[in-house]
Amino acid sequence: MPEFFNVLPPEDALRILLDRLDPHVETERVATPGAVGRVTTGAIVPLEDLPALPRSTMDGYSVRASDTFGASEGLPAYLDVVGEVPMGRLPAVGVSEGQAALAHTGGLLADGADAVVMVEQTQRLGPAAIEVVRPVARGENVIQVGEDTRAGDPVLAPGHVLRPQDLGGLLALGFAEVEVARKPVVSIVSTGDELVAPDAAPAPGQIRDVNTYTISALVESCGGVSNVVALVADDYDAQRSAAVEGLAGGDMLVFSAGSSVSSRDLTARVLSDLGAPGVLVHGISIKPGKPTIVALLDGKPAFGLPGNPVSAAVVFDLLVRPTVYALSGCAPAPRRPTLRARLSRDIASVAGREDYVQVRLAGQDGSLAAEPVFGKSNLIYTMVRADGVVRVPLDAGGLYAGDDVDIRVY
Ligand code: AMP
Ligand code: MG
Repeated sequence: MPEFFNVLPPEDALRILLDRLDPHVETERVATPGAVGRVTTGAIVPLEDLPALPRSTMDGYSVRASDTFGASEGLPAYLDVVGEVPMGRLPAVGVSEGQAALAHTGGLLADGADAVVMVEQTQRLGPAAIEVVRPVARGENVIQVGEDTRAGDPVLAPGHVLRPQDLGGLLALGFAEVEVARKPVVSIVSTGDELVAPDAAPAPGQIRDVNTYTISALVESCGGVSNVVALVADDYDAQRSAAVEGLAGGDMLVFSAGSSVSSRDLTARVLSDLGAPGVLVHGISIKPGKPTIVALLDGKPAFGLPGNPVSAAVVFDLLVRPTVYALSGCAPAPRRPTLRARLSRDIASVAGREDYVQVRLAGQDGSLAAEPVFGKSNLIYTMVRADGVVRVPLDAGGLYAGDDVDIRVY
């Protein structure tokens, strides 16, 4: 039985690839409202202060703070209301000593005012006068010029994955377009004599192709464009020509299945013939996902993922996802969301191997419980039923019920 030599921890396998990768990130300008998930290529530097003028944070009255000093319920300050600053307009009124002007949340201050008194701390005395029952300090209830961001100070760094709030921040500053990395195109080739397209009826012994579609969706979820090349049989020539096509039509190549070391497994041979330096890693110390291939073919990363769908997804997350981000100029990849949860059962492992175990999360006494979804790693529904995955570290012999662990949530 052929064996894996030099099985590497997944971080090492990734580093070997990324250290040799020299991504020349191409840029494009896109409309900011549609740029969520895109990666910035340069620092974003505003040309203006935000806000550009002082604004009230409360409904109330623009005042000169000194007019309210010492005010209390027992000894209120009396102010004449000289007008209103309407929303969205420059003030037409000014306040001088003993005067106030109606202010609205987000509106500008009257000329001469340096603070805002909340309406709750005033009492109306007829149509044109108020009493103020609490003092305000200068600047109180006011957003100062540049308090959000200052002209010239970068607001976003290069290599940043844009989130909804970032779009808001950019648009608040008038950046209607943003320069981002062109999305890397990831070519996908699925292999296996037993596979049929999901809309075909499998004959006995055949199964529907899952990986083409899960890998494709994973690619899109980390900001890539998936280019589905073909579903090919376990045939060297067919796989080689699909690989050639995939490399020509993409920035990166992902092969599904045939990544192990039996005579039926052709991926390593196919990939090693297609460019320099060729296969960098064959075999990583994880379960599931040991039969994994990492290659670099004339500057383009290529992966041979194990055929079983759960292994393919686990390895995608560990190796392919960070590579897609690296090709977008974002390294390291954004952290995955995690939750702390208490393991409800023991998980056995062996030292020298990382295990990735699917878990379900459930609330328990105000904290979260993680229940392992056991089952053979080739069962796609172990993952469908899961809310996340827990890692048993390389040097651990297992995890114990009651351990607090980090769950990478889906
Ligand atoms: P292999 O990596 O070729 O040894 O395949 C491992 C297991 O994954 C086998 O049971 C295959 O039938 C299964 N498999 C391979 N490719 C796919 C695929 N695209 N979709 C679903 N299952 C697959
Ligand atoms: Mg196979």
